[in-house]
Amino acid sequence: MSENARLKFYCDDDRCIECHACDVGCAEAHELPAGISRRKVITMNEGIIGLEYSLSIACMHCTDAPCEQVCPTDCFYIREDGIVLHDKDKCIGCAYCLYACPFGAPQFPRDGAFAIKGVMDKCTMCAGGPEETNSHEEREKYGQNRISEGKVPICAAVCSTNALLVGDAQKISEVYRSRVLSRGHNHQASASPSGWNSAYGNK
Ligand code: SF4
Ligand code: SF4
Ligand code: SF4
Repeated sequence: MSENARLKFYCDDDRCIECHACDVGCAEAHELPAGISRRKVITMNEGIIGLEYSLSIACMHCTDAPCEQVCPTDCFYIREDGIVLHDKDKCIGCAYCLYACPFGAPQFPRDGAFAIKGVMDKCTMCAGGPEETNSHEEREKYGQNRISEGKVPICAAVCSTNALLVGDAQKISEVYRSRVLSRGHNHQASASPSGWNSAYGNK
């Protein structure tokens, strides 16, 4: 990945085989508590021959992130490379971010005897959080920081069909275009990958 790239996700629904390596790999790598799913595999048109396909979705690290715009305590911050992170110490668990997010990405642990909502957790693009990089505190609150070590996020690294890609926006767009052209067909026949316009607009 180049420096100062705008990092984006692309899940190729023609290649996703619904194996769940991505969501299980994420939960394991970051030691997520039960009930927290930073990434989910969803199947559309289930059982309909020729129309069924699966997608892996997580926080898309949106341009002009809607979650950031509604958060009353300014939890969110956006890195130069486009990764949208947040500060759990500022979060009051109000869930405004979840209502604003088009992808259902923010997650809330059920906490305490009355199932009070805990602070929000979401995909960090494996880039940790505001604590000192690779510190014990960062690991405890946000999971692994693979980006700081120059590694690909674990969900993309374990995807055996290369359905799930993450990287520089321009390179991802090139891969998308070349795959669509080489297939000559796509059941979603659109100019951009699923979720792309909603997350990134035309950028
Ligand atoms: S996908 Fe949701 S949580 Fe992630 S940046 Fe966009 S609005 Fe925020
Ligand atoms: S739940 Fe936390 S991160 Fe989400 S809007 Fe409320 S304070 Fe902000
Ligand atoms: S980028 Fe990291 S935190 Fe986000 S879904 Fe993938 S493995 Fe989980």
